[in-house]
Amino acid sequence: MAKFEGYKDIYVFVEQRNGVIANVGYELISEARKLVASIPHMGFKVVGVLLGHNIKDQAQTVIAHGADKVIVADDAMLEGYSTQFYTDTLTQIINEFKPDSFLTGATVLGRDLAPRVAARLNAGLTADATKIEMDPEKKDEALLLVTRPTFGGNLFGTIICPDTRPQMATIRPNVFSMDAPDASRSGEVIEFTPKFENTDAKVVVKEVIAKVVEGIDITKCDILVGAGRGAEDCLDMVQAVADELGGAMCASRAVVDDGFASKDIQVGQTGKTVRPSLYIACGISGACQHVAGMEKSDMIIAINRDPQAEIFSIANMGFVGDVKEILPLLKEEIIAAKK
Ligand code: FAD
Repeated sequence: MAKFEGYKDIYVFVEQRNGVIANVGYELISEARKLVASIPHMGFKVVGVLLGHNIKDQAQTVIAHGADKVIVADDAMLEGYSTQFYTDTLTQIINEFKPDSFLTGATVLGRDLAPRVAARLNAGLTADATKIEMDPEKKDEALLLVTRPTFGGNLFGTIICPDTRPQMATIRPNVFSMDAPDASRSGEVIEFTPKFENTDAKVVVKEVIAKVVEGIDITKCDILVGAGRGAEDCLDMVQAVADELGGAMCASRAVVDDGFASKDIQVGQTGKTVRPSLYIACGISGACQHVAGMEKSDMIIAINRDPQAEIFSIANMGFVGDVKEILPLLKEEIIAAKK
């Protein structure tokens, strides 16, 4: 008898707010497709789990983004996010359908929900992961190797949950790319009716006040020019290059800690994860905590006066020299190329 009889498929929690699905759900579905493709003999499917109210119609969009099946719990009690009712519903879905693994975005909501569900089910959870692979030696068990920064971000640890199912993980947004949707895909939609034993909400959300994000959201930018400590005294040049390219400036933690940039534009493990088409790192050493937030950029260009700087090991192209000399030249080249 198999070790975990009846457990199968990779489930992805598809987070929505006010009916708008967050990209992280689609990123995780795209990655789950690669994981199931690596164990074809298991016949696993990718299943999206959508909770909310008046959201049934969105199931087809989730299928277009790569899900083979979508379980929808459409209930008035799930209209706004509630730890209590979302935990009740997800626990019931997992108990009924027995997913082999269950992935959730490491968003504010996901970081609240996944540990509650894991605790109820006594399942193992790896929080805030940045990488997921199928263990090549345990493909018959579909064992996931889930990697996350650890020991204050100085090391990466790979965690396995071999003894319980589902294997649960929360994964940071923007870590995986999202496949383009294919409206011609078809899949199964299962409507699930949750049963709430206690409908008295322990916590009542009286009002939701959306945070006003000032400035640019760097996670949505296609071109980023990153300023490191080596560029602190020429941030105007970094900004000018970003402007010429139609992109935005972001920064390393050193620049934020030194008071030259706001935390909103910090890239890295304790900042934001970005994956633009182009990332120009100016005077950034390439510490692992910074790299964790930008290494998935399509093209990385590094400018650093130290030829041994770590950033060059992940850059597609590098300039060894002083940022104050190279940035003005780069700006001129960009202007000339646009003519
Ligand atoms: P430095 O390490 O000081 O490097 C400056 C670089 O600029 C050097 O390589 C130098 O050769 C080059 N340079 C200097 N002058 C010039 C010049 N004129 N022209 C060209 N090159 C020049 N860091 C992050 O960025 N994001 C995070 O989210 C983050 N989270 C962290 C979490 C934890 C728990 C810890 C412990 C650390 C974290 N850090 C983070 C900090 C990280 O370890 C590094 O200290 C930081 O990334 C260094 O920033 P930097 O490369 O800008 O500065």
